[in-house]
This record gives sequence, C-alpha cells and structure tokens, in this order.
Amino acid sequence: MENKIKEIVNCANQSYSKWRKQDIEHRITYLKALKNNLLANKEHYASLMTKDMNKPLIQAIGEVEKCGKLIDYYIDHGKEILKGRTIATEWSEVYVVNDPLGVILGVMPWNFPFWQVFRFAVPTLLAGNTVIVKHASNVPLSAEALENCFKVEGFEQVYFNVTIPGKEVNSLIESPYIKGVSLTGSEAAGSSVAKKAGELIKPVVLELGGSNAFIVCQDANLAKVIPVAVNARFQNTGQSCIAGKRFLVHNALKEQFIEQFQLEVSKLKRGDLFDKNTTIGLMAREDLAIELESIMKASISQGARLVFGGHREGSWFEPTLLAEVTPEMEAFRQETFGPLAVVVGFDTLEEAIQLSNDSRFGLGVSIFSEDVDLLRSRVSDFEDGAVFINEMVISDPRVPFGGNKFSGIGREMSEEGLLAFVNKKSVIIK
Ligand code: NAP
Repeated sequence: MENKIKEIVNCANQSYSKWRKQDIEHRITYLKALKNNLLANKEHYASLMTKDMNKPLIQAIGEVEKCGKLIDYYIDHGKEILKGRTIATEWSEVYVVNDPLGVILGVMPWNFPFWQVFRFAVPTLLAGNTVIVKHASNVPLSAEALENCFKVEGFEQVYFNVTIPGKEVNSLIESPYIKGVSLTGSEAAGSSVAKKAGELIKPVVLELGGSNAFIVCQDANLAKVIPVAVNARFQNTGQSCIAGKRFLVHNALKEQFIEQFQLEVSKLKRGDLFDKNTTIGLMAREDLAIELESIMKASISQGARLVFGGHREGSWFEPTLLAEVTPEMEAFRQETFGPLAVVVGFDTLEEAIQLSNDSRFGLGVSIFSEDVDLLRSRVSDFEDGAVFINEMVISDPRVPFGGNKFSGIGREMSEEGLLAFVNKKSVIIK
C-alpha cells in the first residue's frame, strides 16, 4: 500500500478513536449540518455527476435531493434503532448495545455517484464508525466533492476519500484498521472483495447486479403499467441495478404492450445533458455501450426480433426493444446495464414465476395485476430480495434493500443498514 494511502487509513483510525466516544446527539447534529452542506450546493454537485457520467442534470438534482431524504430518515429514527435492547432473565440485568466497529471501507460504483455513497456512509457514520470511500475511477469529480461535502465545520473529519484502482482494494482490506467492507458494483468485484474479507474474517455487505423481471399479468391495467415500465427500464439511461430488465408479459397483452411501450419511449427526450428537459442521457462510457451492443447483437443472432432502436454512436445507445426473447439468449441471461429492454411472453402465472427466477440474480421483481391477494399468496415463490406489487422496484431509505443469489449479501438502509457494521455487544450483570 502506498504511503499516502497508509496515512489516510491512519487518520481514519485516529478519527475513529474520538468519533466512537461522541454521543448520538453529537452525530445527529453532524448529520443535520451535512444535509445543509449537501443541499446548499445541490446544483453544483448535480453538475459534477453530469460531467462525470453523462446523467441528465435534472436526474442528478433528484439524486442529491434523495440523499437529503436519507439523512432525514436517520436523523428521525437513528437513535431508536441504535438504542439496543434489554432481555428479561434470572440475572439482575441483561442488555445489548450496538457499538461501532472501526474504520469501514466503502467501494462504490459510478451509476448513482452520490446516492450509493450516502446510503453506505450516513448510517455507517451514525453508528460511530468512520469511513474510507474508494469510488469508481470514472467519477473523480464526484469522489472529491463528496469528501468535501462530508467535511463539516466544527466536527472531526470522519469521511476519507482514496484514489486507487479497483485491483488495489484488497491490499486496503488487509490493513488491520479496516474492520469491514461494503461494496456496490459488479459480481466480479464483489466476489474478489468477499474472498479477501472472508479470509480475514471481516464483515461484508455486497450490493451487486440485477436482472429484474417486470411481470405484466393478463388482468393488468396497461394504461397504468406502461409509464411505470418505461421509467423502470430507462431511468438513469438504463444503468441501474434495480431497473426492470426482463419484461415478462402475458401473451394476450404482448402485442398491445409492445405498441404502447414504443409510443411511451418515443416521449423520452435526448439533448444537452444540462438542459432540464433532457430525460435520457448518454451511457457513462463508450466501452459500456459497446458491451451492451454486443449483447443486443448476440441476442438478435440467436433469434430475437429488434422492435425499435438498436443504434449506437459513441456512448449514445438508442432506447431499444427486443421481442421474442427466450431464456437461452444473452439479453435474458446477462445483466443489460443500459437502455435495452426485452419482452418475453408467458401464459400462466406459474410460467411467469419460473421465468422470473430463471436468473443468477435475485435483486427485485415487479408484478402488475389487479388481483393483489393472489400475488400476495405467491410472494414466497420469488427468489428476490424484494417483491413490488403494482409498483416498480425502487430504493427507499425506510425499507431494507439488498439482493439474493448473485445480487449480493446483506442489506442497506432502514434498520438493517444502520446495524450492518456494529458489534452487538451482550452485557450480563449478575
Ligand atoms: P464495478 O466495475 O464492479 O465497479 C464498482 C467498484 O468496484 C468501483 O469502485 C471499482 O473500481 C471497484 N472494483 C472493480 N474491480 C474490483 C476488484 N477486483 N476488487 C475490488 N474493487 C473493484 O461495477 P460498476 O461498473 O461501477 O457498476 C455497475 C454494477 O454495479 C452493475 O452490475 C450494477 O448492477 C451494480 N450495482 C448494484 C447496486 C445494488 O445496490 N445492488 C447498485 C448500483 C450498481 P474501479 O472503478 O477503479 O474499477
């Protein structure tokens, strides 16, 4: 590990020895000031994300505002969640306290440069840990701005940014001061980090890829479903782990769905990313667009029908729909991390559930039907971390978030996120 990085780890550890002793009120006051810092510079931070990864400015502003809501959630509920509990026994007193662990490393992706970091760092800091963030290499402006944002006047520095490539993360995990690691990113990165953390017995949270099914049952109201479906797939230019990626549509509705979906997609506005009317951006990097194009082409050569789109120029990838997709095809098997939707027909709910589960991923699923009781009775048949009925899969600070299968380990946000990196210490007094 470079000396500069060692120095940062030492600083984070020294800061931890003071921060962990601060009471919860002090940390909540810090969060309030952090929120002021964030929102006072909302447009500036949003513009940095746009420059870093081609997100339309209007969506970047929404992302900053969402970070503010996450802070509010923990300001309102953090104390209650962290307070621990008492247990009635024959001893005179038994209770559990949630102590911090130390310096926690966050390895973060580029697709939501602020949101991903906030949802890791805010609860981790509130629990009394300090954090080191290794952000994705292609969002350097956001990475630097985040460190400045978390530096709050009158408080010790508790958030530290490190600029290292992904392949050097494991040497950082080896530092005895790093007590846990949270990674949001690809399966390959997650697996590498989990291996190292496992070898050293350090706790790990992994938020990895997804290939969410978006199921439209025969009795679904298409007028309500279509705008949600288009948003679920094309939000953030399709570069979202929780995007609806595989549209499973009842065969009786399929042609209508395709027609209306195309009409709705035609309303997306391409243009100057800083123009607040632009609703679809470029992909973050040209190599990612090329990768998506190769999945599309492979699927077409396997028999998929190109309904619309299909054109790529640099990192611009035209919103695209493939129909007659089958489970053997690349666009079904792989995570399509960009504006490419695929439609698969089905005849029965059984078949839809089987198709939905036919994926190495298990992040979330959306199902649309007027028969909510029937869907409720089938929730346990889905192998995902979340089931959304008549709603697209979203992340919300109030609700635990995370995946099953190759989508990850552990949960962020809500109570689970705040307790992810704590030592649940049992105290017994005779
Ligand atoms: P990525 O290439 O895995 O990068 C994520 C982070 O991991 C970056 O900071 C990267 O650093 C680092 N990294 C790369 N290789 C590593 C390694 N071998 N060891 C340790 N760290 C390594 O993923 P991405 O392309 O940025 O993000 C897209 C992926 O993230 C998609 O699969 C998406 O579904 C997933 N994601 C999941 C969630 C969720 O909550 N489940 C949310 C958002 C995104 P460098 O940039 O320096 O390579």
